[in-house]
Amino acid sequence: MMKAIMYHYVRPDSPEYPFFRHLHIDEFVKQLEYFGNEFGFLSQDEFARSLAIMEPQKGLILTFDDGLKDHFQYVLPELERRGLWGIFYITTSPYVTGKLIDVHSIHMLLGKFGGSVIAEVLQKLVADEYLSHSHIEEFRTLTYSRQKNSNDTVYVKRLLNYFIDYKFRQGIIDQLMLQFFPNETTLVEEFYMTRAELAGMSRKGMVLGSHTMNHPVLSKLSVSEQEEEIVSSYDLLEAIAGKQTLKTFCYPYGGFHTFTKATEEVLDRNDFAFSFNVESKDIEREELRSRRQALPRYDCNLFPYGSIRESSVEA
Ligand SMILES: [Zn+2]
Repeated sequence: MMKAIMYHYVRPDSPEYPFFRHLHIDEFVKQLEYFGNEFGFLSQDEFARSLAIMEPQKGLILTFDDGLKDHFQYVLPELERRGLWGIFYITTSPYVTGKLIDVHSIHMLLGKFGGSVIAEVLQKLVADEYLSHSHIEEFRTLTYSRQKNSNDTVYVKRLLNYFIDYKFRQGIIDQLMLQFFPNETTLVEEFYMTRAELAGMSRKGMVLGSHTMNHPVLSKLSVSEQEEEIVSSYDLLEAIAGKQTLKTFCYPYGGFHTFTKATEEVLDRNDFAFSFNVESKDIEREELRSRRQALPRYDCNLFPYGSIRESSVEA
């Protein structure tokens, strides 16, 4: 019945980023057509009314995460052409620090240089003392399997996301960025929507929501740290783009392990109308009535034309 869809990267292939994993813009267009025929889209008024009367309606709404330039450059024109709207969830720290969010740095490093180049450098950078002790054996096994199978992208992601002790992680990513993308400020401007573009989106009837400042797994933070991530990012967003018609939030990474009951209470207390989780199901009456800070949302790749791919396939 009522469905929300989640998108991340939506762009054409680029020779500069041969290994980048994204939904091709042409596939996005085909998927919009499919969704229009199959389910239809809810207008912003219809969606707001569903929230008000706590009854789902038949139709679909579109959401886009991480404040990516893709959404201004490629998605917005397609939405405008069809008279559609979307909710865009923005992480705000890049507007303050001029730096990429960690997870995006990893995507850019792998997307431009590929897993094997990054894995080589990373293997030299990471000394044993950087590894969290519980994972050392796993790390050795992974290193061994990398040499055998050269599944380098998996190696890089697991090393950075799981095996390196959290206190060294930022330093290692900073070193990689310095080596491979020495001009990070320019990269930030190309990668995320600018402040002016955010304001432009809002003027054109798109809704901007908070996606925290730093894109952490909120459940790992104290409640007051969570509140700071949520409230400060929303305040900055409205300072940049003006007051929004719907006050909304979406959890970084998503899934029920990424937030807690206390997070939902923070959102209620700060008057967020609703928040999105990632869960492959329709939005039902039950959630609209009693679980508004964890509305379910499908990944676009669960529907036709939504598959993510690389520009050129890494062997
Ligand atoms: Zn995100």
